[in-house]
Amino acid sequence: MSEPQISVGLTEDQAMLRDLVRDVVKNEVVPVRMELDEKNEYPHKVLEKFKEAGLFQAMYEEDYGGMGMGMMGNIILAEEIARGCLGVGTAFLATKLGSLPIEVGATPEQKTKYLTKLAAGEMIAAFGLTEPGAGSDVPALSTTAVKKGDKYILNGTKQWISGAGQADVYTVFALTDKNRGPRGISCFIVEKDTPGFSFGKKEDKLGIRCSETRQLIFEDCEVPAENIVGGRENNGFLHALKTLNLSRPAVAASAVGCAQGAYEAAIQYAREREQFGVKIATFQAIQHMLADMAMAIEASRLLTYKSAQLAEIGHKDTAKFSAMAKCFAADTAMKVATDGVQIHGGYGYVKEYPAEKFFRDAKILQIYEGTSQIQKNEIAAGLVKEAASRR
Ligand SMILES: Cc1cc2nc3c(=O)[nH]c(=O)nc-3n(C[C@H](O)[C@H](O)[C@H](O)COP(=O)(O)OP(=O)(O)OC[C@H]3O[C@@H](n4cnc5c(N)ncnc54)[C@H](O)[C@@H]3O)c2cc1C
Repeated sequence: MSEPQISVGLTEDQAMLRDLVRDVVKNEVVPVRMELDEKNEYPHKVLEKFKEAGLFQAMYEEDYGGMGMGMMGNIILAEEIARGCLGVGTAFLATKLGSLPIEVGATPEQKTKYLTKLAAGEMIAAFGLTEPGAGSDVPALSTTAVKKGDKYILNGTKQWISGAGQADVYTVFALTDKNRGPRGISCFIVEKDTPGFSFGKKEDKLGIRCSETRQLIFEDCEVPAENIVGGRENNGFLHALKTLNLSRPAVAASAVGCAQGAYEAAIQYAREREQFGVKIATFQAIQHMLADMAMAIEASRLLTYKSAQLAEIGHKDTAKFSAMAKCFAADTAMKVATDGVQIHGGYGYVKEYPAEKFFRDAKILQIYEGTSQIQKNEIAAGLVKEAASRR
């Protein structure tokens, strides 16, 4: 495959989408973000506004009523929403994450049935992969799905599921063949009101508090056989890998947005706060911190765009670049948010200023959708394979 052309700027349509999202976030997210965080409250009203503004459509292809903005549409949404509030961003993007196994693996009938409603914002999805005993070690999952007539009977528990309880439909990974390891995993579309399906308690989290997180509990849950993604057993691990390759650039973009928000709050404060009779922005120590933040954010953004564009064309290096972007941008967001608190001094340690919330929110970026350590494992695996193929 020849080297792909990577665009670092936005097209006119993409810039229009960015301006639209920026406006919606400024008017509908920023004014309520502290209250949502404080109350640990799911952002129903905000998501309703997103729906009115057509933001759900921006995440999906035209065949299903979406805008057909591709990966870059998701990147723009993720960055701009997280710039205002990563909690709202996570609540919103969780539906895309939950839809991706359908997009990458479902039958045409399944796609039409679910993606049309998801693109219209009439349905919310969630992604159920992690389990209490299977986090980084995905193939260790133990939820089972046993075929019985025209149904599968699901038993097991999923852990830390974003949007759980709020979503209408769940893509759930379970073992259909215990003897085949990862090749025995299948993905199922499970609707919320299915008997035998319930939720754990709402988690009381450090950050992204308005994004609801709960367990999914399956107790002899009967799922129609037609809801197995793609109509065939044992393709679930592939669906999960494809999903993560496509979703990690969006998490990277969320990290860019979170870092950008933290940086903007810091530079604004530095230009207002006076010590020793001058604005603290005149101190070289503060200026260098701001310069480091801006450089790292820009580098994260470029890597994110590259990873998204490679993922879009299904480039062979997609997994490596998605992991690079996710890891680099997440680590950058944590560093920038930490320095943002530092620039605020004591005022960064209290809820009066947004620096404290950016700091708490940023941490999740290094954990969900694969920790930074797991991304490095993935990158290194790609590098070693490349080196071996060059010999
Ligand atoms: C708020 C929140 C929302 C989430 N949303 C979702 C969701 O919607 N759907 C979903 O399916 N999951 C979701 N997750 C789960 C998330 O993806 C996992 O928490 C994550 O993959 C890590 O798994 P774990 O928590 O079990 O940590 P563990 O895997 O137990 O890891 C613990 C530590 O060990 C390190 N580690 C583990 N294995 C290795 C290794 N091989 N090499 C080096 N270091 C290693 C990790 O990096 C980490 O530092 C969410 C989690 C949280 C906290």
